[in-house]
Amino acid sequence: MNSPEELHARQLARESRAREEAERLLEEKSLELFLEMQERQRALDALRESEERYRLMVELSPDAILIESEGKVVFANEAAKKLFLDSESLRLLGQSVLDLAAEAYREQVAERLSRAGQLTEPVQVEEIAKRLDGSHFEVSVRRAALLYAGQPARQIIARDISYRKRLERELAYQATHDSLTGAINRSSLIDKLNDAIGFADRHGFPVWVAFVDLDRFKQVNDRFGHAVGDTLLRVITDRLTNALRRDDTLGRYGGDEFVLVLRGGPENHLTPGVIERLMDSVCEPVTVDGHELKVTCSIGIATYPVDGRSAETLMHHADAAMYVAKESGRNLCQFYNNELNAQLQYRSTIESELPHALERKEFYLVYQPQISLKTGRIEGVEALLRWASPRLGELKPDQFIPLAEQTPLINQIGDWVVRQALQCAAQWERDGLGSLRIGVNLSARQLNGIELLRIVQSALDDSGLSPQRLELELTESLMMSDIRLTLKTLNALHKMGVQVAVDDFGTGYSSLVYLQRLPLNCLKIDREFVSALSDPADRHADAIVSTLIRLAHSLNLRVVAEGVETRRQLELLSKLGCDEIQGYLHGAPQRAESIPDLLRTHLPSDWV
Ligand code: C2E
Ligand code: MG
Ligand code: MG
Repeated sequence: MNSPEELHARQLARESRAREEAERLLEEKSLELFLEMQERQRALDALRESEERYRLMVELSPDAILIESEGKVVFANEAAKKLFLDSESLRLLGQSVLDLAAEAYREQVAERLSRAGQLTEPVQVEEIAKRLDGSHFEVSVRRAALLYAGQPARQIIARDISYRKRLERELAYQATHDSLTGAINRSSLIDKLNDAIGFADRHGFPVWVAFVDLDRFKQVNDRFGHAVGDTLLRVITDRLTNALRRDDTLGRYGGDEFVLVLRGGPENHLTPGVIERLMDSVCEPVTVDGHELKVTCSIGIATYPVDGRSAETLMHHADAAMYVAKESGRNLCQFYNNELNAQLQYRSTIESELPHALERKEFYLVYQPQISLKTGRIEGVEALLRWASPRLGELKPDQFIPLAEQTPLINQIGDWVVRQALQCAAQWERDGLGSLRIGVNLSARQLNGIELLRIVQSALDDSGLSPQRLELELTESLMMSDIRLTLKTLNALHKMGVQVAVDDFGTGYSSLVYLQRLPLNCLKIDREFVSALSDPADRHADAIVSTLIRLAHSLNLRVVAEGVETRRQLELLSKLGCDEIQGYLHGAPQRAESIPDLLRTHLPSDWV
């Protein structure tokens, strides 16, 4: 049994333990509290710091940052104030955010603001914004929801992208337009044509693709310089554009080539009037730097869907038709058709065969006598080129010379003709057949100065013939096309002693002023005039031929009448004082082998 003292002592000991325990607990708790408070302080510091950082970031941001609450701007950083032109009189704070959007964007902006709250990630959109002074600019915008002063609000981050947009537009423009004329370029032409085809297909309308190529544009460049050529192209672009309807498209395809996409419709037809308007718009004279320029154009047209269903085929066929328009004499419009395709096929065969014709010895010359009306003697022969092609048959010069003229082949062929003709003449002379004059035709590309002189000189040297025996025939349009070059070249030929004849006189346009300045020897009256002589319906033929003969004589030129086929023509020409005649009446062009016999058997008294 415990005594009361013992019980008391135990009680004291228990109490003391309990107190110790309580004190320990208290200490523990107060430590925890201390740590917690410290933690909280740190968090508070961090929050303050991050708020400060956010404030700084917002203030210094180059992007405009606005906060909108209840439709009004409640906060705007410096960049925003600058961007929207905040001023003493026009304050950004308090503005309705919808008033900061261009009219066309108001509805979209309202909807985007209301949606901003539901978005986890702010979406970036491009809009047109309105400054406080009412001017517009392009912006990229992001919107996100946040609480501002305890109220639901939206943060709006806007960046001015006007400059970038302008640059993008410029780049896109450059990629789709021709820098010289401002017309759309080749690649966007195809796009436009595809659009037109798509539309036409849905509505059952036609589309016309017109290839327009300026005639002799190169000459403008060569004669007046590229700056003048460029101006001409710009003027013609404007004129063609004005001649088109609004739905039609004009593009520059390259150099002096334009393509028009003309859309058909219930009211829209490609009438002759439309084509005439286009051609007239090109050929009206243009004055550039004091030069009056007059160019014509050749047009080729392909029609969707009959001439092709794809943009590429249509362009190809329009180009082919344009080519034929050029070949047929320029300043023409040609519609594509299947026959034309066969014609082009034939042409392309000629083109591929032509380069081999010389080395395969497929060319030969025929000679046509020129007879003096005074003596009845054969004074000369004209050499005329023929091509005996194993694949294409016998070809006349008209069929292949224009093609050869587009390549350096023309010089090789020309070289061969002069050489061959002079060698024949030298052989006839050696055979005691007399000293015939020999006429050789020249074409456009050959009248290029130094190369021609070199060829002629070398052929004369090789044949040993005197230069007076060679007579080069040039058409008047050829002579007049570049009068300065003609003067230079002909003067040099004249110095060499070579004779020059104007071929097909009366069919082109000669300037009489130049005609008298050129060192010429002979004028050949075109057979059109000669054949008219025997036509009783043509009352003026005699007068014209008589005038031509007198004109030639007053310029001291010998006159040869071409294409004399009848006795009556001969008699008339003789009466009018013509010097020589050439034509089927006295002999068709014949092979070199037949000429000696002709010369031997030809008796002047029989012929005149
Ligand atoms: P051109 O110089 O006017 O030649 C005369 C053309 O008239 C020749 O045609 C000739 O065969 C033809 N002809 C001659 N007499 C008569 C006639 O009584 N009636 C008719 N209806 N025609 C007659 P071809 O040989 O077909 O030559 C055509 C053109 O080709 C020539 O016209 C000439 O400009 C050119 N040519 C001929 N040979 C050459 C050549 O070697 N080089 C060049 N560059 N052109 C040539
Ligand atoms: Mg001739
Ligand atoms: Mg002729």
